[in-house]
Amino acid sequence: MLVRMSHELMDACKEAIDLAAESKQYMEDDGQLHPLVGAVILDQNGHRLSAGARKQDGRSHAEVVAIARLTARQKKRVHTVVTTLEPCCSRSDPDQICCSKRIVRLGAKQVIIGTLDPATSVRGRGAQILQIRDVYFSMFPKELQAKVIETNKSYIEFESELYGSGKKPRLRTGIAKDDQEFNLDFGPSRLVSFLTSKRFWNMVKDAYGEFKRREILDTEFEKFFAISAASANSRIATEVERTPRDSSIFELTARYMAFPKDSAIDISGTESKLVYGSIAKWWYRNRRKNRTSLRDRLLE
Ligand SMILES: [Zn+2]
Repeated sequence: MLVRMSHELMDACKEAIDLAAESKQYMEDDGQLHPLVGAVILDQNGHRLSAGARKQDGRSHAEVVAIARLTARQKKRVHTVVTTLEPCCSRSDPDQICCSKRIVRLGAKQVIIGTLDPATSVRGRGAQILQIRDVYFSMFPKELQAKVIETNKSYIEFESELYGSGKKPRLRTGIAKDDQEFNLDFGPSRLVSFLTSKRFWNMVKDAYGEFKRREILDTEFEKFFAISAASANSRIATEVERTPRDSSIFELTARYMAFPKDSAIDISGTESKLVYGSIAKWWYRNRRKNRTSLRDRLLE
């Protein structure tokens, strides 16, 4: 037996879905696939306080738009945030606070989420921040699930396919024959032997040491590779290429980029992802040693 939602919550979920569809018109034209997102904020009686669509009012995320539209008086009445997509847990811009933490700071008591974000940098971690901070979260009612997923069909399919959703692997042209970009089994042998070599691991360790020397936090190190892994064309990845540094991960990236063009290896975004993926793997394998606790990380 499923729990029934109040009419107010149900209406807010429907409005959020409409706003998500509306956000298509504000979508940036950068050749990347972005999600469509809508958010609605309610007080404890279910009265609507504000709402927003992604990229509306010149702001990035739907939650940020909706929060920015609240008056000071309304802010005190915030109870529920309804959003079609799991609130984000990290931002590539260090000056931006992620939506999960924004919602916590806003003092919301509950969050109703349309769908979890399949992007590798989120995948439940936004919801986890809410849970750890004692903000109750639940999903949209079952009868709206199909609609919310339909709204973001291509985004969800793209992100899930990219990081292995358990779906049947799709054949691709190029080196990676599988949809699991991080799977070394599908990398060219020369690249694989490089990525599994001691030299590579030592380089990653050096890079980690470099981050430490510069007093960059573990979370930043992890974020750096998570973002790099998520998009080989991300701003950070581009900056890595642009900034010459000493023997470190930056050199590794440079060397990788200079991987013999005359060889059979076709350098593409997929191979870059294999490199970043390997680094990320090293990080995850060593994360227990590398940081205090998951709880501390999420609360920082
Ligand atoms: Zn966000």
